Order: sequence, then C-alpha cells, then structure tokens
Amino acid sequence: MKIKSAQFVVSNTRVEKCPQEPLPEYAFIGRSNVGKSSLINTLTQRKGLAKTSGRPGKTQLINHFKINENWFLVDLPGYGYARVSKKEKKTFQKYITDYFLKRQQLVNAFVLIDIRHEPQKIDLEFMEWLGGKGIPFSIVFTKADKLKPVVIETQVASYLNALTSGVWEEAPPHFVTSSQSGLGRETLLNYIDNINRSIRQNPV
Ligand code: GDP
Repeated sequence: MKIKSAQFVVSNTRVEKCPQEPLPEYAFIGRSNVGKSSLINTLTQRKGLAKTSGRPGKTQLINHFKINENWFLVDLPGYGYARVSKKEKKTFQKYITDYFLKRQQLVNAFVLIDIRHEPQKIDLEFMEWLGGKGIPFSIVFTKADKLKPVVIETQVASYLNALTSGVWEEAPPHFVTSSQSGLGRETLLNYIDNINRSIRQNPV
C-alpha cells in the first residue's frame, strides 16, 4: 500500500468522541517505549506524525490518524508505565477497555512487543483479554535491527511458543519490524490493505 495521505484528526479519552465516519480502524498498542510512535511514523513515512516519547507515559490519549482517506490508524497510550499513579492507571484502563469493547470500526489491534524481551506478564495478560473478548489482534515485534537475523528467528519462535503453551491453541498473525531499517513495513501495510479490500467487497 502506498501512503498518499496521513493526517492527524483528533485526540481524546472518550470512545464516544472518536470520529463517527464508518472507516475501518487499526489500533496500535504496547508498553511504553516499545517503539510505537517510531513505527507509526515509519509506516506513514511522516516523521513527526506520532510524537516519539521524550517522557514515556505522557501521551495518555486515543489519537486518530486518517490514512489515504479510507482508514484510521489509532495510536493508543502505552501501558505498563511504572511512574503513573494508581488512579491514573485505573482511568487509563477504563477508557482503553471502553475503546476496545465499544469501538465498532475497530478491525484489528496490533500489539507491539520489543523483540529483545522475554514474554512479559502484562503483554500476555493483555492479549489474553483481547482474545477472550473476541477482538482480533496481531503481534508486531519491534526493533528487529537490534538483533542478528538468526537470533530474531529464535526469539520469535520462543515468544510464539510461550503463547501457544498457554491459553492459545494457535499463534496470532505476527510481523517482524524495524522502524530504523523499514523491515516489515510493506508486509504490515499490505496486511492492512488486504483487510480493507475484503471489507469493501463484503461490507457488514
Ligand atoms: P513509544 O514510547 O512506544 O512510542 O516508543 P518510541 O517510538 O518513542 O521509541 C522508544 C525508543 O526506542 C526511542 O529511543 C527510539 O529511538 C527507539 N526505537 C524505536 N523503534 C526502534 C527501532 O526500530 N530500532 C531501534 N534501534 N530503536 C528504535
């Protein structure tokens, strides 16, 4: 998919205030510092579209970006930031939960995982929650340039293995990406494009 246009539309904390247009929507979420803003900027080839976090945990908003006038890319706040208060965490959980449960336009969530890390409880629990609610999601491994190709393979295999040895019978779709080298960019965009095409052919 070629990115012809990418514009910021609106930021808010209320699912009710998200754009009303019935366009397919793809949400990006992950722990703070996972490389979400960098990935969004690489995908859209717009350097400053998503603000790369100087201070993680700062951008606690649901950010909508309209891409090619026909789908929304949604930048959700990073979770698992230790320095936010309990109350902030609760509020955050409530509006993110609301977003996932109520947002009709949501087609797929991309859960970002730093490829160098071992499976973390917070990510596994989050994916388990999505799966339990029937929300389609895929895993996007980030920062692949930090590892050698052979190590990438073993890391991915062991991560997926950890998932399937838990509650999952089958691993979700996954992508290996690097915002620095652009690895995985085309594949990820084509994945979105294919879903968009199938939706247009069989509108709900
Ligand atoms: P966010 O908090 O998830 O939005 O993460 P950012 O996009 O702000 O990135 C966090 C840090 O990781 C920054 O220092 C980035 O430069 C770095 N980073 C993000 N993506 C990559 C990547 O693909 N490769 C490398 N080497 N560093 C990355």
